[in-house]
Amino acid sequence: MKSDILIIGAGVSGLAAAADLSRRGLKVSLLEARDRTGGRILSLRPSGWDRAVELGAEFIHGGNPELSRVLKQAGIKKHRLEISMWWSEQGRLEQRQDFWPLIERIVDRVPARDRGWSFAEFLRRQPRLSASERRLAGNYVGSFNGGPIGRISAHALRADGAGAKNDDFLPDKPYRSVVDELERQCRAQGVELYLRAPATQVRWRAGAATVSFHQDGQAKPRELSARTVLVTLPLGVLRANRMKFSPALTAKRKLIAQLGWGRVVRVVLRFRPGFWSAPFLPRQIARQKGKHFGFVNAPGEAMPVWWALHPPAPILTGWAGGEIADPLLELRPAALLRQAVRSLAKIFSVRESELGRWLADWRTHDWQHDPFTLGAYSFAAAGCDDGPKRLAQPVQNTLFFAGEATADDLGTVHGALASGVRAAKEIRKALAKR
Ligand SMILES: Cc1cc2nc3c(=O)[nH]c(=O)nc-3n(C[C@H](O)[C@H](O)[C@H](O)COP(=O)(O)OP(=O)(O)OC[C@H]3O[C@@H](n4cnc5c(N)ncnc54)[C@H](O)[C@@H]3O)c2cc1C
Repeated sequence: MKSDILIIGAGVSGLAAAADLSRRGLKVSLLEARDRTGGRILSLRPSGWDRAVELGAEFIHGGNPELSRVLKQAGIKKHRLEISMWWSEQGRLEQRQDFWPLIERIVDRVPARDRGWSFAEFLRRQPRLSASERRLAGNYVGSFNGGPIGRISAHALRADGAGAKNDDFLPDKPYRSVVDELERQCRAQGVELYLRAPATQVRWRAGAATVSFHQDGQAKPRELSARTVLVTLPLGVLRANRMKFSPALTAKRKLIAQLGWGRVVRVVLRFRPGFWSAPFLPRQIARQKGKHFGFVNAPGEAMPVWWALHPPAPILTGWAGGEIADPLLELRPAALLRQAVRSLAKIFSVRESELGRWLADWRTHDWQHDPFTLGAYSFAAAGCDDGPKRLAQPVQNTLFFAGEATADDLGTVHGALASGVRAAKEIRKALAKR
């Protein structure tokens, strides 16, 4: 039987839409390319680790009612993060109490009216900022948004103070629990979920569509038809044109090329027990066994951002976003690990070999070359602040769009979730009119 809605992609946006629509008695099919749901939420529990390793989303950046609802349904609590910031330059590691106030002060100077400036352009127009303030703000914005500051919209940063005005939280369970809850709802409400089913083509006309997909790697495509289709593919996959539309969506294609698509590298290192008392750690950190370690920014390092959120667990996450990530993205895993250890050794002013002796295990995921993501997450591109809204616009009340790239809060789990709920509402309205 033909579905009312066929959803492509079972990340949080696709799952949230499927849960909403199936709850209202509509017939929903959901196609997912991977052998798992959740997309860019990837929580692993390797042996030897006493907590989940998050290789995709980890933080709740502010959040919204849509996410709060799922957290409640899943019995997940969130804990506010009190993040201390450290700065490491020329062999000196010191705490920066002024980090967030400084970011907020700088971003507050962005003109209220959108002038189409990138963040780099905005910084150039701030003669009173010192070189070190510029470097601090530029490093932070590029790294957090995963894009070059020459492309990131200054105006879009103003709205939330580039993250400085948001509270950050951590869920008390692996992020995967959010996905499990949505998947549970979908299955209980009769959503037909196809895993290992990458979609390759959408043939459509007003009021109907047929989607081709390759189940379990089979060469011969299978087809499913529906009254509406919801596309939730990551922007990287849309940019690569991996799934064709027939007839083609020319205006959307042009827009997709203009939107900001970020890249990041993330490694998670687990050290041997006792790491926080290692002789090379600053006394203040060692004394508290890593508690309040928070974040380190080390501009100039290959892997310049580090954090540890669960001390005394001896786990540190390394991060490089935007242009800084580019050279790392070309490395094989062993070389990436060497580079990460080298950066961290410089931050702690210890020999690489000595730090290396403390290392017990590590994990990473290459989102850039992952064929079902092809990058990290979206950022607001200068001169294209309304791009996500335009991408979200339905085509002839038949093709609908969700996913973090269409969200109010780009590049976040809560934004992706809300986009799925928004698209579900649009679809319900469209179907009710027919
Ligand atoms: C390294 C990293 C760190 C992050 N950290 C945070 C964080 O701390 N906090 C936060 O809020 N957000 C974070 N994010 C962003 C967050 O993970 C995403 O915004 C969100 O998970 C996106 O959900 P989505 O449903 O839009 O897309 P996705 O989760 O990417 O879902 C899209 C789905 O489509 C599938 N798909 C792709 N191609 C096809 C095809 N041809 N056919 C069928 N299915 C297909 C994919 O496999 C995927 O499951 C991070 C992302 C990354 C990569």
